[in-house]
Amino acid sequence: MICNSCPRMCSVERNNTLPAKGFCKMPYEPFIARAALHKWEEPCISGINGSGTIFFSGCSLRCVFCQNEQISRKPFGRQVDKNGFIDIMKRLEEMGAHNINLVNPTHFVPFIKEALEKYKPSVPVVYNTGGYDRAESIKNLDGLIDIYLPDLKYVSPAVSKRYSSAENYFEFASKAILEMHSQVGECVFDGDGILQKGLIIRHLVLPGNIADSFRVIDFVADSLPKETCMSLMSQYTPMRKNENMPELNRRLTTFEYEKVLDYFRERGLENAYIQQISAAKKQYIPDFSDFGI
Ligand code: SF4
Repeated sequence: MICNSCPRMCSVERNNTLPAKGFCKMPYEPFIARAALHKWEEPCISGINGSGTIFFSGCSLRCVFCQNEQISRKPFGRQVDKNGFIDIMKRLEEMGAHNINLVNPTHFVPFIKEALEKYKPSVPVVYNTGGYDRAESIKNLDGLIDIYLPDLKYVSPAVSKRYSSAENYFEFASKAILEMHSQVGECVFDGDGILQKGLIIRHLVLPGNIADSFRVIDFVADSLPKETCMSLMSQYTPMRKNENMPELNRRLTTFEYEKVLDYFRERGLENAYIQQISAAKKQYIPDFSDFGI
């Protein structure tokens, strides 16, 4: 296939030959870095048993603060075909996963669509994305995804260019999120508080960047219902010293985070998952030395 799946729109042939040509450097059939029950998502996703998380390797962004660099810059893990992918989903279901959580699926949408058309799990399927998606790709998943869990990292083109080499991040992410909302609507929970359907917009508050966090909140308040659920994350952890971006060499302060939470309330939004600042630990980074199941 000629790939224009994500906003990079590389127009390159995607097959299973390595090295792959596109910005994401991924072949058509995905490399899966890890598949396991994961307990570090929002409580309505992880529940008691854990979320059946499938981590894809590769990425269409280049975030300078990436916490998964080990898997995001090159093929990592096991390559699977459709049947192999379906077997992994079935295994996670048998283990009691509350959902099948596709982490960073953007650059594998055509493959994922084909697999889910062949086998739709009995538990909700979560599309857990960095947000740099094309609305056209999301449209192709209509009816196959139950829960959208996109990041909305930035609004400012200057900030998204600086940190993720994607000046047009908001232009695409905003349209993709509106398409996601049109497909699944507001959050629906089961009797145990486990999310069955809906949209949660994640935003990682970055040190020194709360002005852009305010813009993210403005977009949600101005474009979506006030019941829209956000997850405002304070867990930013510097992975290494960055000489060129000294503002990223520290954790978020309580003052900065409280300012963002206050603004969320001021804008009349009603539902947010929030974190303790003390949550900013490397425990959120999965162990990719072990495939999992
Ligand atoms: S998915 Fe990969 S190859 Fe396709 S447009 Fe995006 S970066 Fe390019």
